[in-house]
Amino acid sequence: MSAKRIVMGFLLCLLPVALFAEGGNAALSAQGCLDASIVLQEQGRNRDAVGLLEGCLRRAIADPELRSALAWAYYHEGVLPKARTNFEEAIKAGSRRPLDLLGAAQTALEERNYDRAQTLLAEAAEKRPRLALSYYYQGKVYEAQDKPDEAIASYQRVIKEDSHFVEVRPFLAALYEKLKRIDEAWRQYARVSQVDSHHPLARAKKESLLASLTKKPDELIPPKTIGRHTAVVPAPGWDKDSIIKVGIGTSAGGNVLPRKAIAFRAAAAFVLADAASSKELAKGDAGEIWTVRVEPHDRSAAQIVDPKGKVVGSFKKSIRIKMESPESRTTILSRLSYAPGYAWGGMADRELRGEIEIALSPADKSLIIINLVSLEEYLYGVLNSEMPTHWPMEALKAQAVLARTQALYRRQVLRPHKAHGYDVCDEQHCQVYGGVAVETLRAKTAVDATRAEILTYNGNPAHSIFFSNCGGHTQSGREIGWGDVAYWRAVFDGKDSARAPHSPGQLKQWLQSEPPAHCNLPKYAGAAEFRWTRVIPAADLEARVSRKKNVGRIKNIIPLRRSRSGHVNAIRIQGTGGDLVVEREHEIRRILGLGALRSTLFVVETTYRKGRTHAFTLYGGGWGHGVGMCQAGAGGLAEGGALYKDIVAHYYPDTFLQPSSR
Ligand SMILES: [Zn+2]
Ligand SMILES: [Zn+2]
Repeated sequence: MSAKRIVMGFLLCLLPVALFAEGGNAALSAQGCLDASIVLQEQGRNRDAVGLLEGCLRRAIADPELRSALAWAYYHEGVLPKARTNFEEAIKAGSRRPLDLLGAAQTALEERNYDRAQTLLAEAAEKRPRLALSYYYQGKVYEAQDKPDEAIASYQRVIKEDSHFVEVRPFLAALYEKLKRIDEAWRQYARVSQVDSHHPLARAKKESLLASLTKKPDELIPPKTIGRHTAVVPAPGWDKDSIIKVGIGTSAGGNVLPRKAIAFRAAAAFVLADAASSKELAKGDAGEIWTVRVEPHDRSAAQIVDPKGKVVGSFKKSIRIKMESPESRTTILSRLSYAPGYAWGGMADRELRGEIEIALSPADKSLIIINLVSLEEYLYGVLNSEMPTHWPMEALKAQAVLARTQALYRRQVLRPHKAHGYDVCDEQHCQVYGGVAVETLRAKTAVDATRAEILTYNGNPAHSIFFSNCGGHTQSGREIGWGDVAYWRAVFDGKDSARAPHSPGQLKQWLQSEPPAHCNLPKYAGAAEFRWTRVIPAADLEARVSRKKNVGRIKNIIPLRRSRSGHVNAIRIQGTGGDLVVEREHEIRRILGLGALRSTLFVVETTYRKGRTHAFTLYGGGWGHGVGMCQAGAGGLAEGGALYKDIVAHYYPDTFLQPSSR
């Protein structure tokens, strides 16, 4: 049993005593009071938390943490005058902590004291410029003051600080609509649709505003096109490398997207050959745009269409685009749509090394694109998609080793995409592969410097998973429910004097502040990657939950289980007509946030108004699942002088680096 579980269990036993026995509070320290109040709030018992904190404050000396917690509890309860006096007192006590200022501002907003709210928010933003919440509430105040232009600027700032804070996009869209800036409104709704194709408002507005646009959708979210082919230099020893098959243009989950046609250009004259028999089906020239499409009337065959639009051949299974000297030439695939639910890509060209296979999938009635490329050249196109290559070289080398190991482990052991004929997909599900466009000299240097080296455990390739940012503590495979893999251990990523939190109150304070950590270097962690916030309107969550189960009006989000790191590994969404328990990491992230949360490392605060749940505020940390190597932490460790071997050893205890047998 972890220390945290013990503390939590202890607190839960203690609560009835603390709450209902005469003088029970006297036994609780300030930290104990704070912990207990948080446990109560997490169970949806905010009113009891108010009572507990009042009692604690009566007995204890004025403790700024307790004062602040009480102010927030009153705020969430909707008792605004009490919230105001307690926030003001906490501020007067000299703390002027950004979150106290923010709480006072939110209270002032609801009491329609807009000038006071703006003053407080400006101070909060000055003290913690990367905290998106300040700009969120600035936007709210400007809206209340009927200043749409200023509100737009504030909401845009939210997105600048945290592009994942998608909840502000519908606000932005509505403001643009109000100002008759329809193109911009449409673009915001389109952005929402990209991350949540079922979002009812975004879907309806995207349609209804279409007629009023002054520009074409393509001009509003322009596809990323590639002009000229790149003359690529082959990786050293590329011809002795093994070939990896990469599924191209897959969904975020690595699956085949419905695709009826593919257009492509090759850097040199090419032959389209049957993949199995090598029989020649058609011949084309450099730079010509050719198309392969599912036959409209017979879905069991695909057609080859020449640059003039003439059908010149057909096939049932798969074909390959073959060029002379393919090691120094590329193929460009046109306007592949990115997966809905991931990133902002929209449509983009993709330039690839190696050979391209186009297969007809009768089951999906769709075309599958497979890139056959040497393992090391595949890594050239992976590294920068997974870690920006201005990062320290030792971090890049660690990433190269893990990416190589990951590819081999998937090809040899997991084989997740066997049914569709490729070893790995090009999305987050396996690892993001951007092809030639993302190759850089430093990425190639890191790959070449670690050539063939992989991470092993007991002599076999390790399952070397990684993610962007742990938020200060990684979690073990067992805790997240992915199995008891010996080297998937929980590692504290804090720095120097920082200590891992060991109670609910410490966890909250830790997530609401910016403690020193290997992964908290602004140079390597984007604004909201180490610490983030989200405000989720209860109505929004209701709509998302109702797609899975009708639980009535949402009352609370109750964390059921946490890892030692603080990651939430099970939640109960409590409604007036039933509950929904969510236990899988990616499902928790997807259901709670519009377009998903950055991670499951968060604490929730629930705001109630007029007897109903109004909104959830999440204070979170990290980006990604938190198991294995923390990439931002690798950057921080390398910055401090660690070698790639040390970095890998920090996140993967008991593993070894060895040359792969290929
Ligand atoms: Zn995959
Ligand atoms: Zn970390």
